[in-house]
Amino acid sequence: SYDIHIIGGGLAGSEAAWQLAEAGFRVRLSEMRGGGDMTPAHQGDALAEMVCSNSFRSDDGDSNAVGLLHREMRTLGSIIMREADVYKVPAGSALAVDRDLFSGGVTHALENHPNIAIVRERVDVLPSEGLTIVATGPLTAAGLAASIGTATGKDALAFFDAIAPIVYRESIDMDIAWMASRWDKVGPIGDGKDYINCPMDKDQYHAFVQGLVDGDKTDFKQWEKDTPYFEGCMPIEVMAERGTETLRFGPMKGVGLDNPRTGRWPYAVVQLRQDNALGTLWNMVGFQTKLKHAAQVELFRTIPGLEKAEFARLGGLHRNSFIRSPELLDRQLRLKSAPHIRFAGQITGCEGYVESAAIGLIAARFAAAELAGRDLAPPPPDTALGALLGHITGGADAASYQPMNVNFGLFPPLAEDVRKKDRKLGYTARARASLAEWIKQADGIAG
Ligand code: FAD
Repeated sequence: SYDIHIIGGGLAGSEAAWQLAEAGFRVRLSEMRGGGDMTPAHQGDALAEMVCSNSFRSDDGDSNAVGLLHREMRTLGSIIMREADVYKVPAGSALAVDRDLFSGGVTHALENHPNIAIVRERVDVLPSEGLTIVATGPLTAAGLAASIGTATGKDALAFFDAIAPIVYRESIDMDIAWMASRWDKVGPIGDGKDYINCPMDKDQYHAFVQGLVDGDKTDFKQWEKDTPYFEGCMPIEVMAERGTETLRFGPMKGVGLDNPRTGRWPYAVVQLRQDNALGTLWNMVGFQTKLKHAAQVELFRTIPGLEKAEFARLGGLHRNSFIRSPELLDRQLRLKSAPHIRFAGQITGCEGYVESAAIGLIAARFAAAELAGRDLAPPPPDTALGALLGHITGGADAASYQPMNVNFGLFPPLAEDVRKKDRKLGYTARARASLAEWIKQADGIAG
């Protein structure tokens, strides 16, 4: 027997299970992978698998909104942050991890928690009773997606997310490529030489952009044509189509990267970030793509230094589904029409690993309070957690609701007279004080 049923053992479901178990409640965690099912983007059976990049983005809690969210989650005992900190790899000021060790660590922690029972099963219908958290993610299996559609009376919304390729380090020509971080910036565990950089001159760059535009792409079905891309994860060829210079001002910009062989910045660059602790796998930063696999191999081998590249994984494109949360959910992430059910993670319309885990965390805190017969006020809107939650449960206009990474635009504005250079610190200092106050007031249930 159990106190709460969590469906989906991804970033959000794993965090939620941990939080509830740590609060003393018995959790049944249903995960379909490992029970004969798979999603189109996952590769294995581990909980909290990172489907694309191995980065949790900026870890700077003083001047970056996602870094602030990291900090708040650490304060609240997040298992996702704990394991990320254990398995991090050098990535400048970003928090990147060895993806297999990370998800292995989360799986191990959950498997060994006395209050958690992990059941490898697919759930096809929303439970009609009993406290439940649905955290089945952007690739929720079809049966359950249909059941959610019936319960909400609304079609799910959707957008596209893409995956970037991963290259074997030994196949990269280091006589051409070199190691460096932009502006030689030294991160917490790196040495200022965290990225592999492949330089391009002007002709090579223009030929490459043309190759992206002309390359063979995965066909779209008619209904997919109207589905938008997520701006933060735009396929590289879509950026190339926006203009020849777009990539040179985006993921391929060469500024701050002295090529030791020329003593100058390259005209354009392709950067690769370490993907595992051994340093044998490197992913192509910003190179999420819907080019067909053969076209990817052909084109990416024209990149200087990658002429003989071998790929551990190629890029791909997936349709992400999410619900109209501002209309369907209450302030505690409960389905208004069936309040025993909460939603958490990317299916609520937040975007990103960190945001998904954060919403899993807060959904679990709400559920724990409910199980304890207490009321937990939502975290204040000037915290990263509260700002993100506000976007999902009410801040956004339901008609134009779109997935969102956490950002300072979601926070209540600062006083007019705060100087521009002090604003980021203004947001994060205010958030820090506010979260501390919330934890204190919640009298134990929050902290
Ligand atoms: P997931 O981590 O997907 O977890 C959901 C879990 O539920 C899965 O384990 C799944 O197997 C399980 N499940 C589904 N249906 C059922 C069912 N009926 N019964 C039982 N179990 C079920 N975010 C980033 O920050 N960086 C990126 O680079 C990035 N790239 C992405 C690329 C793609 C192609 C996609 C689809 C998403 C990407 N995201 C990225 C977005 C998002 O952050 C991740 O999808 C994240 O994993 C969402 O967390 P989640 O817990 O909501 O869902």
